[in-house]
Amino acid sequence: MAQKIKVTYSTLASPDPLLDQLYEEAVARVKQNFGQTFPLYINGEERFAENTFTKVSPVDRDVEMGFFQKGTEEDALDALSAARAAFPAWRDTPWEDRVAILRKAADLISERLFDMGAVMSMEVGKNRLEALGDVEETADLIRFCCDQMEKNEGYSITMKSESPRHHNRSVLKPYGVWVVIAPFNFPCALAGGPSGGALVSGNTVVFKPATDTPYTGWLLTTCFRDAGVPKGVFNFVTGSGRTVGQAILDSPEVDGITFTGSYDVGMHIIRSFASSQLPRPVIAEMGGKNPTIISKKADLDEAALGVMRSAFGLQGQKCSACSRVYVHNDVKDAFEEKLVELTKKINVGDPTLKDNWMGPVINNASFEDYQRFVADLDSDGNILFGGNALDLNGFFVMPTVVNDLPEDHALWKQEMFLPIVTIAGFEDLETAMAKANDVEYGLTAGFFSEDEDEIEWFLNNIEAGVLYVNRDTGATTGAWPGYQAFGGWKGSGSTGKAAGSVYYVQQYMHEQSQTVVD
Ligand code: NAP
Ligand code: MG
Repeated sequence: MAQKIKVTYSTLASPDPLLDQLYEEAVARVKQNFGQTFPLYINGEERFAENTFTKVSPVDRDVEMGFFQKGTEEDALDALSAARAAFPAWRDTPWEDRVAILRKAADLISERLFDMGAVMSMEVGKNRLEALGDVEETADLIRFCCDQMEKNEGYSITMKSESPRHHNRSVLKPYGVWVVIAPFNFPCALAGGPSGGALVSGNTVVFKPATDTPYTGWLLTTCFRDAGVPKGVFNFVTGSGRTVGQAILDSPEVDGITFTGSYDVGMHIIRSFASSQLPRPVIAEMGGKNPTIISKKADLDEAALGVMRSAFGLQGQKCSACSRVYVHNDVKDAFEEKLVELTKKINVGDPTLKDNWMGPVINNASFEDYQRFVADLDSDGNILFGGNALDLNGFFVMPTVVNDLPEDHALWKQEMFLPIVTIAGFEDLETAMAKANDVEYGLTAGFFSEDEDEIEWFLNNIEAGVLYVNRDTGATTGAWPGYQAFGGWKGSGSTGKAAGSVYYVQQYMHEQSQTVVD
């Protein structure tokens, strides 16, 4: 289908009515296709395992979107062998040719934007702009890595030479077989982005999506396949993290990995890699417990809007979600009132419908977590708004605003990954900063103040990788490749380098110094 619209960072901010029409047509179309069985994709071939699992939509428990393969340990090892066998030829393919193939994959993703977005809305529970944004961001992340390869001419540079007879170069070369393990919440961008980086730099890939999001993973796989990525270069394996994921981790065939997901699984991977025979790179992008600090010199309307969007967008299931607010006591009541007013206006329901800004949470476990957390917050703190699950056939819960939670309560530090924000007052900014930094995470952070010195102070003292000041479109959320590099400090990220950044793609290559004397 020919697209009549180009979705970008700015069109997503002020969408065209055509976007709604194309999306709604796509939702109707993809629903017709639900109920198919999807394969693994290993060595350029579709493969079926003995058992399948059913992907049920969180929007409606009666909707079976598709049946996916329960990959076994053997499937995982076969995928790694295929990637190993395909590596030499892919490595030796001129980088310009790899860039051309990856650009083609990015263009296919953009062409299939609406169908992929529609599936993702039903698979994850994302509203239309969140779903379309995730898909288009994938294409842009891949293009960004292609741009970097081109700008740096394949990362091969001439060094100083000690005499005319000496020819000294530094080249970056791919590691080999790269594993990509993705989370459910950005099932396209955080699978396609890392895969694009690994592939364009000459690695071959084994990709495992989250069990909650195999469908988007399959659609992404078909984009790489249809773009002409050769057989064995990109492999797709579904199955549980504990079996198929762990089998991949345990194999010495893996030369590097990009994991995006929770702190616990990420640290488990880092530790298990550290105990293997040889050192291997781990790019682990992990959770967040992202704070927003609101000064008494803040524009409170901006602050309330920014916090509302970041706390409740995608049902609070973004690694960058704002889950803690520290607000000056002088303006605390006024801020809370504004936040609650805005939160009351949020419609929760089927996210494919335009009026619903919040969809369901991802699965029954999250739905039950919400109820458990809310009971805890209700007994130890004060629920200003929300706190209920909705009586619908999906996993729908209310956006929830909490205050008066004791300072030492565990939920100030634990990532809940749900639409729950806790608010505390402060007397002086230094105390707020100390609390904001007193967590194991350091992904994103927000600040609201009209005072330049305070802004400078915030930028100089907060311990996080992605900062936003006075941003009403999202106090802590909403990075886009090329606009904001996205990566975490502390327990939020293992490499100190961010995605969608000029420092990203080099992580998929090791440096080789070559001195040749005539
Ligand atoms: P998760 O539960 O940690 O799972 C992430 C991936 O790891 C899934 O594919 C999962 O497979 C797999 N996995 C689980 N156990 C494994 C094992 N032993 N070996 C190998 N793989 C294993 O995370 P999630 O619930 O999908 O995503 C939410 C988390 O991701 C949050 O903590 C969020 O903050 C974080 N996140 C971080 C970023 C970032 O850029 N820093 C971005 C997005 C999300 P199964 O699904 O089959 O278990
Ligand atoms: Mg999980």
